Amino acid sequence: MTWRGVIEQYRSRLDVDDGTHIVTLGEGNTPLLHSQRLSEKTGLEVYLKYEGTNPTGSFKDRGMTMAITKAAASGAEAVVCASTGNTSASAAAYAARAGMLCVVLIPSGNVASGKLAQALVHGAKVVEIKGNFDQAFEITRKLEGPYPVVVVNSTNPYRLEGQKTGAFEICDRLERAPDYHLIPVGNAGNITSYWRGYREYKADGLIGSLPQMFGFQAQGSAPIVLGYPVESPKTIATAIRIGRPASWEGANNAASESGGQICSVSDRSILEAYRLLAFEGVFAELASSAPVAGLLQLSAEGRLEKGKTAVCVLTGHGLKDPSWAISGAPRPELVEANIDTVARAFGF
Ligand SMILES: *Cc1c(COP(=O)(O)O)cnc(C)c1O
Repeated sequence: MTWRGVIEQYRSRLDVDDGTHIVTLGEGNTPLLHSQRLSEKTGLEVYLKYEGTNPTGSFKDRGMTMAITKAAASGAEAVVCASTGNTSASAAAYAARAGMLCVVLIPSGNVASGKLAQALVHGAKVVEIKGNFDQAFEITRKLEGPYPVVVVNSTNPYRLEGQKTGAFEICDRLERAPDYHLIPVGNAGNITSYWRGYREYKADGLIGSLPQMFGFQAQGSAPIVLGYPVESPKTIATAIRIGRPASWEGANNAASESGGQICSVSDRSILEAYRLLAFEGVFAELASSAPVAGLLQLSAEGRLEKGKTAVCVLTGHGLKDPSWAISGAPRPELVEANIDTVARAFGF
C-alpha cells in the first residue's frame, strides 16, 4: 500500500472525521535503523528512529499534519508559533500546503540557518524577537485570544496526538516495544507523545510490555533535571535550548511511570555522539544526538541491561545546521585540475 501520511495510516487512532480534508506532505514512515557500532559499544541491540527523513526534516511534521488539518477544518486562516527552528519550518510548509498564512516568532541569533531558510521559502512571516524561546512562546500564547490565529506549538493538543504515531511505527516494525526508549527533551512534548503512543498500543494488546522512558536535556538547559526553570538556557543544541518546558509534567510522568528518568548530557558528549552517528552514515542534528550521548552515558554507568533493545529517536536532520559539521572538519585541499596533483592530494 502506498504511504499517505500518518493520519491515513493511523486514522482509527486519531480523532479526524471522515469528511475532513487532510493536509499532509507524506510525513512518517521513517527508517528504524539498526546501529552496529552503538550495539557493539553498549552490548544492547540499538536502533535509531531517524526522523530526519520527514518532509521538512524533523519529527515536527507528525504533529503538524494534525494541527494544520484541524486548524484548516475549523476555518482558521492563519497559524502562529514560537520556534527554535523546526516547528516554524514545519508549520510554514504545512500552512503553505493548506493555503494558510503562517506567522513565526523566533529568538534572535539562535536559529539554525537551514530552519530559517525553510520558514522563509514557504512564505511564512518571520519576526525575530530580542529574547529567548521562552519569551517568544509567552507572547505567542497571548496572541491566540485577541487575534484570529491558531497556535501550533506543542501546547496545541493535536500536535501531541500526531506525534504519538512515532511510537506506533516503532512497535509495528519491532513487533513489540523496545526495552529502553531514549529521546531528547526540549519542550517535552515528544516524550509525552511517545509515552502516550506506547500506552495506547499496550492497552489494546498490540504490545505486551512498555519501554522505560529516558529523556535527555543539555546540561546548560536542564530545568526538569534541576526541578526549576532556567532563565537563560545555554547549549549548542539549539532545538532543546528551552528553560521552561511546556509539557514538563508529561515528561516527569513518562519517566516515573515507566521506571525511566530525565537526565542531562554535556554539550561535549552531544558533539561526540553527533560525530559518531555521522561516521556510521547517519546525519542528525545536535539536539538529536543527545539521546545517543545519553545511551553511552547510562551504558557506561551500567544502568542498561545487556542484550536488551534500545531505540534512540533522532529528531531532526543534520543538514538543518551544517555549520557544526563544517567547523569540525579540515577544509578541502585546492589543487591543480590534473590527475597527478589529485592523486598526490589523495596520498596515492
Ligand atoms: C523540537 C525538537 C526537539 C525537542 O522536542 P520537544 O517535544 O520540544 O521535547 C528535539 N530535537 C529536535 C531536532 C527538535 O526539533
